[in-house]
Amino acid sequence: MKKLKLKKNARNGILISIVVIILLSGGLYSYFNIKKEKDYEKTDEYQLEQVGYNTEEIKILKKVFVNKELDFFKNNKKKQEYIDLIQEKHFIKDNFNTYLEYLQNNRNMTASLAVEKVNTQTNKEFYTDPVATDTSKESLMLINKYHYLTNDYTPELVTIPPTYSFGEIGSQKATQDTYDAFLNLWAAGKEAGFYLMVNSSYRSYQKQEEIYNKYRDIQGIEYADELAARPGYSEHQSGYALNITMNGYTDTTFKDTDAYNWLVDNAYKYGFILRYPSDKEEITGFAFESGHLRYVGIEAATYIYENHITFDEYYAYFVK
Ligand SMILES: [Zn+2]
Repeated sequence: MKKLKLKKNARNGILISIVVIILLSGGLYSYFNIKKEKDYEKTDEYQLEQVGYNTEEIKILKKVFVNKELDFFKNNKKKQEYIDLIQEKHFIKDNFNTYLEYLQNNRNMTASLAVEKVNTQTNKEFYTDPVATDTSKESLMLINKYHYLTNDYTPELVTIPPTYSFGEIGSQKATQDTYDAFLNLWAAGKEAGFYLMVNSSYRSYQKQEEIYNKYRDIQGIEYADELAARPGYSEHQSGYALNITMNGYTDTTFKDTDAYNWLVDNAYKYGFILRYPSDKEEITGFAFESGHLRYVGIEAATYIYENHITFDEYYAYFVK
C-alpha cells in the first residue's frame, strides 16, 4: 500500500515537472520571441521600412549614410527624390541638404540637374558672390558667371596669322598652347574637308566692357546679360577661347555645317571642348555657342567629351 502511494507520488511528480518544463519553455520561447521582435524594431531596416523604403532602397541609403546619419530618413516619410539624388553619379554627401533645399525652391528641376548645379556652385543667381578665378590653373582656369578675371589680367599672347583668321591682320590672338593646339586641329579639319577660321579670340577686359556696356546702354542690364558676358566674365579674356567658323557662315549659322558636327566629335583630340553646348545652358550660364572652343588640354577635353559633362563640372571634380 505504501509502495503504491509512493509510486503514485512519483508519477505525480513527473507529471508536474513536465507541466512546469512545458510552461517554462513556452514562456522562454515567447520571451525570446518578443525580445527578437523588439530587437528587430530597433534595426535600421525595420525603421526605414516603416517610413516607406523597400529593401533595395534601404541598401542604397545604407551604402552612403551610416548610424546617426540615417535618422533623417527614419524621421521623415520617404521621398523619391532622396533616392534619386543618392543614385546620381556625382552625388556628394555633404551637399545633400543643399540639393534638397535647391529642389524645394525649384520644383521642376530634376535631381540630376540639382546635383550638377550645386556641385558646380551655379545654384545661385548669375553673378552672385563671384570670386576672382585662380589663374595659376592656366589652361584649366575656370571663368563663368561666378568666377572672373580681374581687369588687369592679360595673358601672354601670340598672333594668329590671317591664313586661319578673320578680322584685321594681327588682331586675333591666343596663348601659345591654344594656338599650337589649334594648328593641329586646323590640319585635321582640313584633312576632313573643312577650312576652319578663327572669328574671335582674345578679348581684353576693356574690350569686353565696351561690348557689354553698349548693349546695356541701349537695352538695359537684362538684355545685355543675355547677349554678352560682363567684363571679366568672358573666357575670351583668358586667351584660351576661340570662336570658330567657316567662310560664308556666321557665329549663329555655323551650327548648321558639317564642320560643326565634326568639331563636336573631334575637337577633344586636340585639347579643345565646345564650351557652351545647347543642352548644358543651365550649367554653363551661357546660351549655346556652336563655334566657341575652349582649350583645356587633351586629358581634360577627352574626359569632358567622353562623360558628356561641362567644364564647370570638370573643374569642380578634378581641378579645384
Ligand atoms: Zn566665344
